[in-house]
Amino acid sequence: MFTSDTVTKFRDLPTPFYYYDLDVLNSTCRKVATESKYSGYKVHYAVKANPNPRILQIISSYGFGADCVSWNEIERAIGCGFKPSEIVFAGVGKTDMDITMALEAGILCFNCESVPEIEVIDSIAARLGKSAPIALRINPYIDAFTHKYITTGIEESKFGINTWELDEVMKRISGLGNTSLKGIHFHIGSQITRMSVFKSLCSRINELLDWFSSHNVELEIINVGGGLGIDYENPDVPARFEDYFCMINEFINLRGGQNIHIEPGRSLVGQCGSLISKVLFIKNGINTVFAIIDAGMTDLIRPALYQAHHRIENLTSPGSLYRYDVVGPVCESSDTFGKFIELPETRRGDIIAIRSAGAYGESMASRYNLRDLPKVVFSDEI
Ligand SMILES: *Cc1c(COP(=O)(O)O)cnc(C)c1O
Repeated sequence: MFTSDTVTKFRDLPTPFYYYDLDVLNSTCRKVATESKYSGYKVHYAVKANPNPRILQIISSYGFGADCVSWNEIERAIGCGFKPSEIVFAGVGKTDMDITMALEAGILCFNCESVPEIEVIDSIAARLGKSAPIALRINPYIDAFTHKYITTGIEESKFGINTWELDEVMKRISGLGNTSLKGIHFHIGSQITRMSVFKSLCSRINELLDWFSSHNVELEIINVGGGLGIDYENPDVPARFEDYFCMINEFINLRGGQNIHIEPGRSLVGQCGSLISKVLFIKNGINTVFAIIDAGMTDLIRPALYQAHHRIENLTSPGSLYRYDVVGPVCESSDTFGKFIELPETRRGDIIAIRSAGAYGESMASRYNLRDLPKVVFSDEI
């Protein structure tokens, strides 16, 4: 929601830009802090959703840890107030440099995806005279019922260790002198809106906790990953944190000394951001009218990449409603934010907000067509 005062200020700013509403970000962080108050819960913000330094500083101020997928993310997170001892490091393709730097920094845990990766971590740790804390990322074979590009926990996925390999994996890592197994990790996908998916994950986790107990392996870290979705049609509504945390608390049977770790990305930052753009041209098509705006897929790739829907609002026209195909200027037909979108009569110069752009917007921006990266405007700056 934008006040008329805010919209007036938007008129004077060069577009496109990401607008971050810090009240929304703070209230989301407060909600997560409150709902995750079960004892032993640790939240690690998934930095890849939005690594903007100011956003990271605000999130770290709530005492959350970070979930990173490269050394550069870890370095940025530490620079923005996250404690190395609360950073977890995921990814199927960690480089030797990433691993070395993360070991030197003293992170909480490497979330590992294969035995060869663990062997490399072990040998680098040996060289540095350290012991590497690791967790096994296990593929739980749960369909997240989300877009196939953001489904990560099914059979054909490149992510995670297969359960049928666990015996062999445990055998091979038990001989390693410089790694210590701290826990298990899961991440089944993103933009998950069916709570039943998380319930299935909880049961699968319980089966695995039984398996590890029966093999006398003690685990401290039970990391359920991220994935909680947001309602893109209702951008002013926060994610269902209460239901989510309740479900995890109710259904996972922890043993003594085990802690739940959670890695929310999108649900923390998605709703605080909007991509603000101006209409360049209105153009008649055969069956439609195009509203060509100055923001494109380079600034928010989700519609082009995942057929994702973001709510689009014309902030300056009070006119009666018409339908438009809202498109960007990039030389790709997929550079379309929405088809047959109902908007008040739209003209050149109108200000368009593409909502829920706080997650995977700025972080996935590119300079394709040699476009400038959008500026960033925070709500307390205007
Ligand atoms: C991307 C990712 C997350 C965050 O996912 P969201 O859907 O944004 O909550 C968490 N954990 C891992 C391992 C990830 O790759």
